[in-house]
Amino acid sequence: MRRVTRKVHIKTYGCQMNVYDSQRMADVLKPLGYAPSAAPEDCDLVILNTCHIREKAAEKVYSELGRLKKLKAGKDGMMIAVAGCVAQAEGEEIVRRAPEVDIVVGPQAYHRLPQMIAEIHRGAGRALDTDFPALDKFDALPDESGQQGVARFLTVQEGCDKFCTFCVVPYTRGAEYSRPAAAILAEARRMAGSGAREITLLGQNVNAYRGEGPDGRDWGLGRLIRALAEIDGVWRIRYTTSHPNDVDDALVAAHGDVPALMPFLHLPVQSGSDRILAAMNRKHDSDAYRRIVDRLRAARPDLALSSDFIVGFPGESDADFAATMALVREVSFAQAFSFKYSRRPGTPGAAMPKQIAEPLKDARLAELNAELMRQQIAFNASLVGRTLPALFDRPGRHPGQIAGRSPFLQAVHAEGAASLIGRLAEVTILRASQNSLSGRLARIAAEAA
Ligand code: SAM
Ligand code: SF4
Repeated sequence: MRRVTRKVHIKTYGCQMNVYDSQRMADVLKPLGYAPSAAPEDCDLVILNTCHIREKAAEKVYSELGRLKKLKAGKDGMMIAVAGCVAQAEGEEIVRRAPEVDIVVGPQAYHRLPQMIAEIHRGAGRALDTDFPALDKFDALPDESGQQGVARFLTVQEGCDKFCTFCVVPYTRGAEYSRPAAAILAEARRMAGSGAREITLLGQNVNAYRGEGPDGRDWGLGRLIRALAEIDGVWRIRYTTSHPNDVDDALVAAHGDVPALMPFLHLPVQSGSDRILAAMNRKHDSDAYRRIVDRLRAARPDLALSSDFIVGFPGESDADFAATMALVREVSFAQAFSFKYSRRPGTPGAAMPKQIAEPLKDARLAELNAELMRQQIAFNASLVGRTLPALFDRPGRHPGQIAGRSPFLQAVHAEGAASLIGRLAEVTILRASQNSLSGRLARIAAEAA
């Protein structure tokens, strides 16, 4: 058989779930002879794996398509595909705005890319698939994955049934779906077998995970984490993104007694104002969030927290914003993401009265960011002088340096041989900045298989 060698460039926007999906798209295309390339100009196929969460994210895709149009004009047979949440949300509108696009494929249909490419080669014109067969997708994806490295992502749950009034995810990613535990455990074993030591479990609402267990019962995320922690070679487990309402007792208990579960949790709260939380349809108030944090910290006293915040949601008053600032000061975060509310067509928030003017959103964002940055710097500085286990996963910026992650997810830099990559080592922290820690190797704790 003639061996066809083609090149594919996949550009990923947005969340870690898109990072995982981009890798899986590469896995699906590999049997067709597509090799990944970092240079779109050399490629037969360019895929934009897109994000629709905020207006700016979606607009970036159209400006990138403008650049690709010129490339395509100079390269015979080049195909352009739009995947991900913009594809799901805008469908044929993409082809109307950007006729250079050949394929539009939603996040639940990308396993069908080979058929779509074949259709185009047969001369069938453009291909569009924005179906929601989540079940088929995971069954159809190949076992083997090209995902490499010490720290990897593993999608366990997709979709969202929560319908926060600002958010497009329930529309672009569909209803909540949890993969069966056996399939997840098998994927994790394969990852560990090929050198993964840290696995981050992914889901739009990962702690809403409720999948069929190998024992035939429903497993929640806490149970799944316990089973994953027993896999040889899996030293560290993380999960993201969680919803406060789905933090159950089993998950809290896992934080207390599964040593592989890292003491860092991204738990978005969005706002500290009960009025705004109700308008956002978050279905919890700020005290409920405080109580959940207390339970988690009682189980794991060194737990470091991260969160997401939205400022300038419709109707947010000075008092509402002050409540957010108060919550931030009270809980104290090791890091956090904050966003200006972005009006997303089709969501209830977009039609709400009292939209907030941009300059006020800017001012509130600056005030919130200043406090979050202060807390992040203080948290990092509190670790100076302590000795922490770091999992080294890459060479550092300078020769002779290696880089990895602390249990609290900060980047850690140290002088050390490249042979330490893939190992867990104790590092005495000597310096801290806003974004990273650096220190001296104290002891090598474990070796990669
Ligand atoms: N499922 C997660 C949760 O329940 O919080 C979050 C998923 S979403 C991909 C990531 C973050 O984007 C949200 O936590 C929220 O802070 C932010 N976000 C979502 N929609 C937004 C909007 N319309 N404007 C600004 N930020 C938004
Ligand atoms: Fe979006 Fe998260 Fe709310 Fe679901 S729970 S609608 S993903 S913010």
